[in-house]
Amino acid sequence: MSNRYVNHCIECSVTNCKNHNKNQNYCALEAIRVGTRESEPQTPSGVDCRSFEADNKPSDIFS
Ligand code: SF4
Repeated sequence: MSNRYVNHCIECSVTNCKNHNKNQNYCALEAIRVGTRESEPQTPSGVDCRSFEADNKPSDIFS
């Protein structure tokens, strides 16, 4: 999956995600899945992006 695409509908600051476009603060996926670990989340911190993938290869970011 290339992270060159910029989905302007999904602004994101999680730079260590494999799907993050490193040149712009947006997600490179066409769609993401959002979820929660809480039964009734009350704050944004209770909601997470389930499409997150750890970026274990920082050197591949601009390749
Ligand atoms: S998958 Fe989620 S965490 Fe990763 S860049 Fe896209 S919105 Fe951000």
